[in-house]
Amino acid sequence: MSKAILITGASRGIGRATALKAAHLGWDVAVNYARDADAAGAVVKAAGDLGVRACAVQGDVSREADVINMFSESEAGLGRRLDGVVINAGILSTRCKLVDMSAERLARIFEVNVLGAYLCAREAARRLRRGGAIVILSSMAAKLGAANEYVDYAGSKGAMDTLTTGLSKELGPEGIRVNAVRPGLIETEIHASGGYPARAQDLGVHTPLGRAGTAEEVAETITWLMSDAASYVTGGILDVSGGR
Ligand code: NDP
Repeated sequence: MSKAILITGASRGIGRATALKAAHLGWDVAVNYARDADAAGAVVKAAGDLGVRACAVQGDVSREADVINMFSESEAGLGRRLDGVVINAGILSTRCKLVDMSAERLARIFEVNVLGAYLCAREAARRLRRGGAIVILSSMAAKLGAANEYVDYAGSKGAMDTLTTGLSKELGPEGIRVNAVRPGLIETEIHASGGYPARAQDLGVHTPLGRAGTAEEVAETITWLMSDAASYVTGGILDVSGGR
C-alpha cells in the first residue's frame, strides 16, 4: 500500500538510504535536513525520479517550532497526511572520556538525540492515525556503552529504547506501531564527526559477520518495520549489527 512518510535527517547516511528505499517501494517521502539543502535536494530528485512525491523540509529537530513546522510542511509538500515517521536524525561528538566532556557538548547531544527525538515522536503521536507507524533509530551503543568514546551518545540512544517501549504501549490501542532499530557499525559520515572516519571499517572486521554494515542494509529493516508486513510488530528493538 502506498504510504507517505517523513524521515528526519535524510540528507545523507541511513536517512538518505531509507528515503530511497521507501521511494522504490512507491512511498511518498518528506526529506528533513538541518544544514545541507543541496544534499537533501539531491535525495528529493532521486526519489522523484522513481515516480513518487518527495519534498525537502529544513528543520532542527531540537527546536519545537521547527519540528511542528516540519510536520506541517511535509504534509503540505506531499499533498496528503503522513502514515509514518522515521526518527533518524542524530549526532555524536569527538571521541573522549566522560571526564573530558563539557556541559555544552552534553547539552547538545541530549538536545538533538533525546529532546529532538521526543519532540518528533510527540508530533507523530498527535498526527498519525490507525495503521500508522514510527521507527526510531537507537544504536548498539545503548547496549555496549561506548566507553572511552561517546558515553553521552550511548546514553541518548538508551533513551530511544525506553521511548520505544513506552510509546508503543501508549499508541498500540490507537493502532499505531512503534519500533526501533539498533544499528551497529555502519559506513556513514557520522564517524567522521567523531574524529575517526574509518571507525566502521576498522572495527567492523571484529564483528561476527566480519565487516561493517551499509546504510542500505539498515534501510531494509527500517522500511520493513514501517510496512504492513510488520503489522503485528510493535515495541520491538531490532539489532542490525552483524552480531556485534
Ligand atoms: P549521518 O551523520 O550520516 O547523517 C545525519 C543526518 O542527520 C544528516 O542528514 C543531518 O543533516 C541530520 N541532522 C543532524 N543534526 C540534525 C538536527 N539537529 N536536525 C535535523 N537533522 C539533523 O548519520 P547516520 O546516517 O550514520 O546516522 C543516522 C542515525 O543512525 C543517527 O540517529 C545515528 O545515531 C544512528 N546510528 C548510526 C550508526 C552508524 O554507525 N552510522 C550506528 C548506530 C546508530 P544535515 O547534514 O543537513 O545537518
